[in-house]
Amino acid sequence: MPLLPAFIPSRDFLQTVLPGLIPAKPSLTHVVASYNRIGTRRYARPVEIVRENELTTLLFPELTLGRIQSDVIRAVESESDPSAPMIATVYVGVRLFVEMMQLVMFLLESRPDARIVAIACPCITIDQEAMIRRGVQAGKIVVAAWCDCGGSLMTRDIRRAVAKNWTPAEADVQISPLSPESSVDLGA
Ligand SMILES: [Zn+2]
Repeated sequence: MPLLPAFIPSRDFLQTVLPGLIPAKPSLTHVVASYNRIGTRRYARPVEIVRENELTTLLFPELTLGRIQSDVIRAVESESDPSAPMIATVYVGVRLFVEMMQLVMFLLESRPDARIVAIACPCITIDQEAMIRRGVQAGKIVVAAWCDCGGSLMTRDIRRAVAKNWTPAEADVQISPLSPESSVDLGA
């Protein structure tokens, strides 16, 4: 059997891998989805949207079964700029493994360019681990990383690290000479 790509330890991911995932673009969307808490706090709303410094962060903490796909995809489609690149951090834990993997697929249908970061704690089964690693091999998941049990600290840390490493690039300057038609006054 060919060797599948390995999970990356959390510290290596945060310090070494994550900075390289952040594109040099004028804006960025970061989706963070988990059926557990994100950090230790409880969020009042099921979808927490933070816009700062051209970075839009969509937090989906404590997702429940019925909300995993519908709520996330709806919010992603209505609240994110399709022209901004997207990083999506998804906690793919043992309890709602299938649903969270489906969420990854739905996200990719909506945003094929999304850079999916799958994080899981070592509670996942060997088969689940292999499934994630195959997702990395297939290029659906950009990177798989280990996290704390339940992922709450890691989702918080990734969110902070993305914000810390993010600097909006200058917008691309379109240098296109005016075509004859565009200089014509078309009138009313
Ligand atoms: Zn665990």
